Amino acid sequence: MSKSVQKLRGLTGMKDILPGESAQWEQLEHTVRTWLASYGYRNMRAPVLEFTQLFARGIGEVTDIVEKEMYSFTDSLNGDKLTMRPEFTAGLVRSAIEHNLLYDRPHRVYSIGPVFRHERPQRGRYRQFHQIDVEALGFAGPDVDAELIIMLARLWRILGLNDVRLEINSLGQPAERAAHREALIAYLEQHKDILDEEAQRRMYSNPLRVLDTKNPAMQDMANQAPKLFDYLEADSLAHYHAVCARLDDAGIAYTLNPRMVRGLDYYNLTVFEWVTDRLGAQGTVCGGGRYDGLIEVLGGKPAPAVGFAIGMERLLDLVSQGQQQLAVPECQVYMIHQGDQAQRQAMSLAEKLRDQGVNVIVHAGSSGFKSQFKRADASGAMVAVILGESELEQQQASVKWLRADDAERPQESIAFDQLATYLQSKV
Ligand code: ATP
Ligand code: MG
Repeated sequence: MSKSVQKLRGLTGMKDILPGESAQWEQLEHTVRTWLASYGYRNMRAPVLEFTQLFARGIGEVTDIVEKEMYSFTDSLNGDKLTMRPEFTAGLVRSAIEHNLLYDRPHRVYSIGPVFRHERPQRGRYRQFHQIDVEALGFAGPDVDAELIIMLARLWRILGLNDVRLEINSLGQPAERAAHREALIAYLEQHKDILDEEAQRRMYSNPLRVLDTKNPAMQDMANQAPKLFDYLEADSLAHYHAVCARLDDAGIAYTLNPRMVRGLDYYNLTVFEWVTDRLGAQGTVCGGGRYDGLIEVLGGKPAPAVGFAIGMERLLDLVSQGQQQLAVPECQVYMIHQGDQAQRQAMSLAEKLRDQGVNVIVHAGSSGFKSQFKRADASGAMVAVILGESELEQQQASVKWLRADDAERPQESIAFDQLATYLQSKV
């Protein structure tokens, strides 16, 4: 008797996407790539692993991500301090700088893939999740800020979502933030007794971030706090209104949320989030904003930029609610055979079918007709092609139609050399 071996498990908060679900992911990715191309965005791919320092600098030391969510480790082979990307922007900007991408013109780019954050797993919150990340590098806006928001509204339309609403804010410029910061710290000092431990720790290092709290006991305090928006001067207000004017032109509704801070330290001017009530507590589907200071902070020649990231798990959750999961067939034709000769014949015929663009599964191994038919049904194929002794003798394949609405359709015999042409026009 073999000793039982302990089953290995995947990591908590890191989901497997099985063949039954992957079609939905691929379909969404296809829709998204087509949508991005319609605005001139091109794919860019940076590695998942970067030096930890990139994210510490590019996101900000006093942020949720850098303080407590990063998968960081020391490479035991050479001592490098590395981090699995918790978001795309820093890596894409690092890459753009390293390859002088912005030296003669701005670029519209995007990436799709996994990101990693050590958070408490729950619906809409995983430790490996996926983002669609879009960055307009080298654009000063406000036209491009508005374009990004308008293109998101189009994506929601394409996906049939009509209950994702837009919140926007402006974080102004460093001088305006400094003025507001003083007033905010004074206010927080007055309310020190209700600040939680994290807020007390951040009130001097990053007071704005205190307003981003999810602690219910601090909501009133945060709502009454001095608003950065009230400290904006003419240029920042003009930028904000220029974005709003273009949203009005496009018929896109928005609300100003003066408390919105967003996760990264280097945001300025426009920030925005798309939110829904249909996902429970994790209702933010997409967040973005302008980060004119980041490229310089990461060692590049100063250049403005703006971007956003969509959470794919949350988006798929929204899209699939109330929708029946469509079962995607594994193939169009399933080939059934009996005997060694027939199996070999099936393999060569299948190659001919594939030459004509038909998707084929040849039953693997040898088993009875009955169990092969069961597999054919389960595959979702439209047609079973049967090769038995008599078929081999007559050099003709039997074609049986499998779908429910073909139940009455008679079985047909098609000569081997006609089969590919015949099926190509019918499946
Ligand atoms: P939250 O406030 O929910 O923590 P965030 O501000 O940390 O969000 P961003 O850094 O802006 O999120 O990431 C962009 C998008 O990625 C979010 O709007 C959300 O849709 C998605 N997202 C963020 N964290 C997770 C996660 N742990 N699991 C799944 N999706 C996530
Ligand atoms: Mg977060």
